[in-house]
Amino acid sequence: MNNEKKYAGSCFCGTVRFTVSGDPAGMGYCHCESCRQWSAAPVNAFTLWKPEAVQIQRGADNIGTYSKTPRSNRKWCRTCGGHVYTEHPGMGLIDVYAATIPDLPYRAGIHVHYQETTLKIADGLPKMRDLPQEMGGSGIAVTE
Ligand SMILES: [Zn+2]
Ligand SMILES: [Zn+2]
Repeated sequence: MNNEKKYAGSCFCGTVRFTVSGDPAGMGYCHCESCRQWSAAPVNAFTLWKPEAVQIQRGADNIGTYSKTPRSNRKWCRTCGGHVYTEHPGMGLIDVYAATIPDLPYRAGIHVHYQETTLKIADGLPKMRDLPQEMGGSGIAVTE
């Protein structure tokens, strides 16, 4: 056993339960149209994790997958439709929606895909036109 922090998460109805362990690789807000349309919300608060940090505890066979592009495998609960996480195979990271892990101390560090924003947020955090270079983007910052 180790002392790694562990945070419990679940879908809207609780059929799917999972944990994330350790510290996320990144946290922030995504303003892209895909996140907006899929989540039906103006921005998506994301937390990124290495695949081994995300463990499904219950309801794994109740998870549906939709991949509009090979960049994102979007996962939801087949019972309640609640979103659980999105795999980003190209980045080697899993985006677990911050709202599904309420006990995680959520501290956004960045806004991504800000050129697509419909809800400007003047919080003083860096705003990337698309993505940071280490996430495969241009690394270009834009103004709030
Ligand atoms: Zn559910
Ligand atoms: Zn997005």
